[in-house]
Amino acid sequence: MASLIDLLQSSIEKLMPPERLKISEWAERYRVLSPESSVEYGDWKNARVPYMVDVMNAINDPETEEITIQSSSQTSKTEAIIINPILYYMDKEPSPILLLCPTLNFAENFSRKRLTPAIRDCKSLQGKISTNSRDAANTLLYKEFHGGNITLAGSNSPATLSSHPIRIFLVEELDRTETTSEGDSVALGEKRTNNYYNRKKIKVSTPTLKGLSKIVKTYERGSREQFYVECPHCKAKQTLKFSQVIFKNSENKTDAKCARYRCEKCSQDWTEAHRYEAIKSGLWIAEKPENKRHRSFKINELYSLWRSLEQIVTDFLEKKDNPETLQVFVNTTLGEEFEIKGQAPDWQKLHARREKYNAQVPNRCVFLVGGVDVQEDRIQIEVVGWGRNFENWSIEYQTFFGDTASKEPWDKLEKYLEKTFKCEDGREIGILKVCIDANYNSQDVLKFCRKYYISSVIPIVGRDRQLEIIAPPRKIDVKGKKKYGSFRSYTVGSSTIKKEVYNALRQEKKIYKIDNKEIEAFPFGYCHFPENYNESYFMELTAEEAKKKKDKNGFFIYYWEKIRERNEALDCRVYSRAAAYIVGMDFFTEEDWERKEQEQPGGIKKRTFVHEQVERNNDKDLDSFEDFWES
Ligand SMILES: [Zn+2]
Repeated sequence: MASLIDLLQSSIEKLMPPERLKISEWAERYRVLSPESSVEYGDWKNARVPYMVDVMNAINDPETEEITIQSSSQTSKTEAIIINPILYYMDKEPSPILLLCPTLNFAENFSRKRLTPAIRDCKSLQGKISTNSRDAANTLLYKEFHGGNITLAGSNSPATLSSHPIRIFLVEELDRTETTSEGDSVALGEKRTNNYYNRKKIKVSTPTLKGLSKIVKTYERGSREQFYVECPHCKAKQTLKFSQVIFKNSENKTDAKCARYRCEKCSQDWTEAHRYEAIKSGLWIAEKPENKRHRSFKINELYSLWRSLEQIVTDFLEKKDNPETLQVFVNTTLGEEFEIKGQAPDWQKLHARREKYNAQVPNRCVFLVGGVDVQEDRIQIEVVGWGRNFENWSIEYQTFFGDTASKEPWDKLEKYLEKTFKCEDGREIGILKVCIDANYNSQDVLKFCRKYYISSVIPIVGRDRQLEIIAPPRKIDVKGKKKYGSFRSYTVGSSTIKKEVYNALRQEKKIYKIDNKEIEAFPFGYCHFPENYNESYFMELTAEEAKKKKDKNGFFIYYWEKIRERNEALDCRVYSRAAAYIVGMDFFTEEDWERKEQEQPGGIKKRTFVHEQVERNNDKDLDSFEDFWES
């Protein structure tokens, strides 16, 4: 006889909602891989993609709003992190869903070849969605289901984004999305989710060029999780890296057939079976576990259970000698950014693409910064405007002639920094931050900076071998005009920024024809130049090239060599990029961009109230950068 407690228990169970399945559990039960899109069609098995289980389940976590995965191409990321969540939400938590693809064409193909077959073959969606292709509630780019709907859109056509609120926003191939003259689809999509407290933003992509990859920047904003596996010999936990793949035979000759993984700790080789076993029991470890709101993951093809190391190495050997195919290997197999080295971009091509701005400061430009280069006989400044996706606009390039050991050119710069610039909507905005090169004439640069609030006019020193864009202040030896000394300064990774600038200068805009209307689309980091920029600016901007040489230990190092006499425009670019970094742009979320827009930023803040003090202090030389900050 059932006890009272048992009776109560069973009636409570009847009243409870059905068991909550996590996305991975749901997929194991209901998902079927369709023959159209998968070599391994049939029932979904989590065991085939062990590293994806936690990524999928992170989407269910109420504390998590954003999920990012930077990945190579053969890791089932689209099946696991795009299609599984879409079908899960259609089935279990019907909501309005938006899937953003790089282009409209991509979206149509995606719907036809991947999403529609996946819906058709899903065991639990039978009868829940109309399969009549003539039904207006089920088109290629829009499908209704009980309690929700899904829209597919292309980033090249923001106009096709529906205007209703959405709860689940997914971006497929984030790095290939573009900003168009009509707006930024990714930003618009994110805004549409604002009404839902339980919104999810899911971004998936293989990366592209170094410094310009959106997925890499998004990954870095999140919890930064990597998949650690255990060495079968020494048990050391490690991530799988291509640099640990050995493909030399016993005669020390390159041979893909003997490709094997070598433990980075004990240097013992693993068999392929060891690698598979290690992956099956691997786990994600976060660099920033406190960031639960945004979980970001990174994975590469070495974790794939259906790609052998031999296949991967064969692929590498085929692609390694041509920069274009090598980029494909680095992006799609290693899931890493690719860095272009060497050649300066073609200045004539850049000169030819100058454009007429609708106002001094075009619409999509959110804030202005300046980069100042100091030479013996001149000071030069470039004002650059930055917007979402690192799209940037050269606004003005100015030279103030005069001996920089005298007051004259500095007074002109001081006056210039008060200037405001007219936006398309009529607002006037000023310069938010300025970075000044303190390599030359450091004493005068420091004196000038002291007239302003800390961190609005910032003295910096360029370092070719520094990898980070900005490093914390450190002691720099300077040869001042009056005496030798040292001070502390922020250092800038000039070489890193130059590579980023050159990669960006190589980006080209695209023109799409949608509904008989031409739409311009700009890739991440695209640089705009105004009509009044002259030829010499572009020659200066592209005046250096990265060259390779062997250091004393026989390793290749890169250094920058001038190919033309004047290179100030490139230096100004580097310093203004550093200023944008100090503004915080590299880690801006969509909310940060919105806030910056509303702030109507501008105006370098001068310390006028301590004017006398500054004048007096300026009479003596500064011995240290601490003096500088403290006074
Ligand atoms: Zn080991």
